[in-house]
Amino acid sequence: MNARFLPAAANGDSAPDSFPVTAPDTPPAAAVPPAAAPLELSARALATALSVPAPGTLVSCRLPTRWGEFDLHGLVDPQTGAEHAAMSLGRLDDGAPVLTRLHSECLTGDTLYSLKCDCGAQLEGALSAIAEAGRGLLLYLRQEGRGIGLVNKIRAYALQQAGADTVEANRLLGLPDDARDYTVAATMLRQLGVSRVRLLTNNPAKVEALQRLGIAVVDRLPLHMPSNPHNQAYLRTKSRRMGHYGPDEPI
Ligand SMILES: [Zn+2]
Repeated sequence: MNARFLPAAANGDSAPDSFPVTAPDTPPAAAVPPAAAPLELSARALATALSVPAPGTLVSCRLPTRWGEFDLHGLVDPQTGAEHAAMSLGRLDDGAPVLTRLHSECLTGDTLYSLKCDCGAQLEGALSAIAEAGRGLLLYLRQEGRGIGLVNKIRAYALQQAGADTVEANRLLGLPDDARDYTVAATMLRQLGVSRVRLLTNNPAKVEALQRLGIAVVDRLPLHMPSNPHNQAYLRTKSRRMGHYGPDEPI
């Protein structure tokens, strides 16, 4: 310990009645802010970053995640004005089929830790599968509540609390069972140079939608997550009433 910072009595001095307040000669290293790195951007990178992208045009940057460093892409949907995202890993435009997940936003499951659905677990499962493969793409489509929006979804949840299943609740509200549209997904895939996918999904409607939009689905890979007491009925309804493949369906 530096003797200058000891109380006088402990320091062996006889008289002083206060602690020294002088600063140490050298401030701790952590207190010195690092010098700002000089801005080094190529003219091309600078021009790209500063230009305002046209609706429907992807912009990109790197995104470190707990599964590795992905490329993050985003665009404004020219039809709806919604902002959609994509995360890619590895080179996608070499013609080989790309392991792909179409994930529809679920604020409650992805972000608020809801146990009422399997969305958060599927999001993590898909990113994990892509990281393990070392190449792939996750499209994060901003169509909350199978396209009905957050407030309608909360209204539907309230009806489910009263005993309706997910399909009955939507119908009681005069809303479609599934209002999602994958047109923008095909737009994003094309811009990323992807025309053939190995689709991670339990939902045959996604396979059909992509094929209708000109994207070849060469393979379907199931994405089943462990259930919990809060989402068992929902998963059963998806399988029985919405045509989703269950864990025991043949691939
Ligand atoms: Zn969900």
